[in-house]
Amino acid sequence: MGKITGFLEFDRKVEAYAPVEERVQHFKEFSLRLPEKEIKDQGARCMDCGIPFCHSGCPLGNLIPDFNDAVYKGKWNKAADILHATNNFPEFTGRLCPAPCEEACVLGINEDPVTIENIEKMIAETAFEKGWIKPEPPKTRTGKKVAVVGSGPAGLAAAQQLNRAGHLVTVFERDEKAGGLLRYGIPDFKMEKHIIDRRLNVLEAEGIEFKCGVNVGIDVKGEELQNDFDAIVLCGGATIHRNLPIEGADLKGVVQAMDFLPQNNRRVDGTTTFENELLATGKDVVVIGGGDTGSDCIGTSFRHGAKSVSNFEIMPMATAERPEDQPWPFWPMRLRTSSSHKEGAERFFSISTKRFEGDKDGNLTGLVTSEVEWIKEPGKSMVLKEVEGTEKEWKCDLALLALGFTGSEMTIAEQLGLEADGRTNIKATEKDYMTNVPGVFAAGDQRRGQSLIVWAISEGRQAAYHVDTYLMGASELPLKGEGDLPRV
Ligand SMILES: Cc1cc2nc3c(=O)[nH]c(=O)nc-3n(C[C@H](O)[C@H](O)[C@H](O)COP(=O)(O)OP(=O)(O)OC[C@H]3O[C@@H](n4cnc5c(N)ncnc54)[C@H](O)[C@@H]3O)c2cc1C
Ligand code: SF4
Repeated sequence: MGKITGFLEFDRKVEAYAPVEERVQHFKEFSLRLPEKEIKDQGARCMDCGIPFCHSGCPLGNLIPDFNDAVYKGKWNKAADILHATNNFPEFTGRLCPAPCEEACVLGINEDPVTIENIEKMIAETAFEKGWIKPEPPKTRTGKKVAVVGSGPAGLAAAQQLNRAGHLVTVFERDEKAGGLLRYGIPDFKMEKHIIDRRLNVLEAEGIEFKCGVNVGIDVKGEELQNDFDAIVLCGGATIHRNLPIEGADLKGVVQAMDFLPQNNRRVDGTTTFENELLATGKDVVVIGGGDTGSDCIGTSFRHGAKSVSNFEIMPMATAERPEDQPWPFWPMRLRTSSSHKEGAERFFSISTKRFEGDKDGNLTGLVTSEVEWIKEPGKSMVLKEVEGTEKEWKCDLALLALGFTGSEMTIAEQLGLEADGRTNIKATEKDYMTNVPGVFAAGDQRRGQSLIVWAISEGRQAAYHVDTYLMGASELPLKGEGDLPRV
């Protein structure tokens, strides 16, 4: 522990944001880095707890007190080593993670928790700026070949770990560029895409082969993969979005978030023409769905120059404080207000969309909602009930559906004869991440359902350990909780 009285001397500080009127003019990141002195003070707030609950809150088991201490002492290189021992891509999580570690931080019981996420980002950025993140190709090769399907955070983490173990790794990605939802879901204003390219350059230099524009199951069949590779890791994500099957859902102007957001990311990347341009410019936009995806639609709409943006959430409004029945150190379901919400969106809770309305040409002109309440009877699950007399009409010419994801696509799973659960998540337990077919593994959202980047990286790492064990009989790759091993 660097400074015994650190948490008494310094208040929590987090990165500030550029003013709204300035940041909505562009798609670049807009958080303002804390000066080095201030981030060191934040590291000094860490109490180096005997039982660091931040560890258990982090799906990667990041060694948080250790890197906090190194940062406080200005030992940035050591901090980068500690961080990379458990996390392949701290520059992604340092920007995008909802930071379950901070909710679990012991200081959070009666004070503001340690600013772990900002510290993580600063370590990662310093390491890149100083040139400490270098390709680390394996010294020897095993001669085994592994196919990774999908290049989101799960696929990239699995690929890097397996390559470090000496296997020849090929990543298949159907999009034109690698990155998964990091590239074609999450908007640039949350993470600019050169951050992904910078890391991909390192992975390529380490010897990983990327085959983009290849749709596995269509362009390359499952059997071909089985013939050509010694193991397969499926990291295809949870790509099936939920629909809203109500009257008017086929009107022009009712758009899935996962059509709207990827198109915008491609536009920012330089693709200038689309068959069907999806723009919020000058429109009254309603974003249906109150999660991360909905929030990203709000920020994107403001940057297009929307006339108004409203956000509907079917669940009641949570409290900003931790609810009593979700005590520390658990992840609380509390009201989260993103930077996009703060850009001027009006939020409505306990509201359900009943139908869309359009003109004679099939264009969306409005929608009708009613208020709802959630009734809980003892021993039964919650039931949704419409509140009579609360019907309301809204003017709307773009409705963005951000209703979550129901599971993964089954083409490759069917070709390989894989079992899946009722939500089409591929069955593979955390015991070894192997499916019912020997040599075929699954990780990330395709296994656990729609989740978080930090979980995807964690699953990719864990799966890699088990693939390596399957191929070689044993593995020296670190498992979660063994992150104090030196970098492999
Ligand atoms: C809009 C949005 C915003 C989000 N924001 C956040 C956030 O701020 N923080 C956070 O922690 N999480 C966020 N998430 C969730 C997070 O992005 C995912 O949990 C994470 O990306 C899952 O990683 P993955 O590697 O399992 O899958 P993905 O990132 O979905 O990657 C899967 C990849 O597999 C490819 N693929 C699928 N099938 C095939 C095939 N047959 N052949 C070849 N390639 C294939 C896909 O094209 C894709 O590139 C967000 C999700 C969305 C949709
Ligand atoms: S729980 Fe908080 S204060 Fe304790 S070691 Fe972890 S980051 Fe530091």
